[in-house]
Amino acid sequence: MELEQALHAARALVLADLSADDVAVADVVSLVEDAVAHRRWWVEQWPEGVGFVAGLVAQDVQDALLERYGRWPLCPVCTDLNDPHPLDIQPELGTDPHWVCPKTGVAVARIGALNSVRRG
Ligand SMILES: [Zn+2]
Repeated sequence: MELEQALHAARALVLADLSADDVAVADVVSLVEDAVAHRRWWVEQWPEGVGFVAGLVAQDVQDALLERYGRWPLCPVCTDLNDPHPLDIQPELGTDPHWVCPKTGVAVARIGALNSVRRG
């Protein structure tokens, strides 16, 4: 069903981005599972939001990491700044979410494609 596919895809995309930064350790994976479970509930309340799940799970994980581990993912564009900042999800509620630098507006990568930036 569409919801399960969307949640499965969201989980895979966010885990791919965490792996790109080598932060997909066990307790971080559990944060992803928590976010997916929360968004499962959310889409059940608002089925029209099913297309937004990947971006929302990414934002949930980003928020959870900020509390427990710190800023993620760090911007690869502004590496010369003394104050490294995390990328934002844009659009916050959209079907084609990207990681975007909040200072320069550069779209760095699609959700799930951070490894192309980190390793390319
Ligand atoms: Zn930046």
